[in-house]
Amino acid sequence: MNCIFCKIVAGEIPANLLVNNDEVVAFPDLNPQAPTHILIVPKKHVENAAELAEVQPSALAELFKVAKKLSVDLNLPGYRTVFNTGEAAGQSVFHAHLHLLGGREFGWPPG
Ligand code: AMP
Repeated sequence: MNCIFCKIVAGEIPANLLVNNDEVVAFPDLNPQAPTHILIVPKKHVENAAELAEVQPSALAELFKVAKKLSVDLNLPGYRTVFNTGEAAGQSVFHAHLHLLGGREFGWPPG
């Protein structure tokens, strides 16, 4: 399968792994949209968050536990977590991933 995040999980493509545990990895986004922009990715290949909830709910919870831990480690006073699901919502990599964004003000509604 030609999945870029599976290749990062397998160590075939380099990434600065900030977290690497049984269920997830986390690494900086290549094209950051905020001073802190980290992708938190389940090791299991599933297309999106809803599918992860079906097949490995513990990993879905782990994504959010890691987001909280990183926010503490990085002293973020607040942060935004985002799942883009489907091309129409801006998903470009079809391996589930949670965006963790912080370090600036965020508008609402999101763009
Ligand atoms: P999405 O558009 O929600 O699917 O998010 C995919 C994200 O993956 C984008 O923000 C990209 O900048 C990021 N990305 C793609 N390839 C890499 C890579 N090799 N390392 C880090 N981030 C990546």
